[in-house]
Amino acid sequence: MSRFLKDRFLHLEAYTPGEQPQESEYIKLNTNENPYPPSPLILGEADIIKAFNKYPDPEASTLIMAIADYYGLNYSNIMVGNGSDEILAFIFMAFDGKFYFPDITYGFYPVYADAFMCEYEEIPLNTDLTICSQDYANIGGNVIIGNPNSPVGSDLGLSQIKEILLTNRDHIVVVDEAYVDFGAETCVPLIEEFDNLIVVQTFSKSRSLAGARIGMAMAAQELIADLKKIKYSINPYNLDKMSISAGKIAIEDVEYFNMSRNRIMKTREYFSEEMKKLGFEVLPSKANFVLVRSDKIKGMEYYLRLKGKNILVRHFEKERISDYVRITIGREEEMEKVLEVTEEILLEKSKEEI
Ligand SMILES: *Cc1c(COP(=O)(O)O)cnc(C)c1O
Repeated sequence: MSRFLKDRFLHLEAYTPGEQPQESEYIKLNTNENPYPPSPLILGEADIIKAFNKYPDPEASTLIMAIADYYGLNYSNIMVGNGSDEILAFIFMAFDGKFYFPDITYGFYPVYADAFMCEYEEIPLNTDLTICSQDYANIGGNVIIGNPNSPVGSDLGLSQIKEILLTNRDHIVVVDEAYVDFGAETCVPLIEEFDNLIVVQTFSKSRSLAGARIGMAMAAQELIADLKKIKYSINPYNLDKMSISAGKIAIEDVEYFNMSRNRIMKTREYFSEEMKKLGFEVLPSKANFVLVRSDKIKGMEYYLRLKGKNILVRHFEKERISDYVRITIGREEEMEKVLEVTEEILLEKSKEEI
């Protein structure tokens, strides 16, 4: 740290992304990426690079129109960002009031709250690690919840979210739907009714574009106008030409999208059942990952032993979930490998203990 850093950042604890080995032999199941490549139609857009000498469309209009078509929204209800992380940052920057979110959720929420000097409070999950929606009724501040919630995978229904919206009319309710396409219900239809709702989605998971950095906010047009004000005050060209184009194609290629997410959901159900057969507790998940634990092996040790066998999963050194690891759902053959290696690890462990 230099002597020039602003005092208010001295104690800021930055977000630690999951490990991203760039060239390796790992089966990479630690950051919830899609194991399948993006829609092959995107490959036809490579010529865009020739136009990199000119700035991209700051409005990303073609992408926004495609999203509007997909969800039946108006253009003015949508903004795109450099990943949904950027959208989330803009939200914490833009709105007054305390933020409330679960104690176990996406690790970036408290970091943004600190970075933008927002007050916040963490609301404990139920003992089964689901969100108790009643805890957020009349809470008197802004709410941000993942639906499904990471790293657990549990989801709330629309009626529960509606209750949170109804009882917090004068505060923002952010629903982070990074994983919604893997089996939960989107809140987008509630936007018409609630001027305090912001739905945040990403192209990084269900649309196989983590490397392109595309996220979106959908909300009443007044809220979108606020977020655009922030965007145009910081980074008007937040999406590059290639990403605008790739995003448009990804949202239009519904057939490919449905094929890939259905495959992942099917693999998730299969993998969950097989893990249970190996004696693991597998928390019910509507996302492209499962949180698992076993009495036979501690979370940290399971993570390390998998890593030793070239399988990368995520372990959180955090109260209440340190016994668990989060495993992203990859291709069928990758999950077969995890099952095989897990069985091996348990066997080795039982031999060591004799
Ligand atoms: C992955 C993830 C994000 C970030 O997505 P990007 O669009 O890649 O920035 C946001 N929220 C949650 C809950 C996530 O899991």
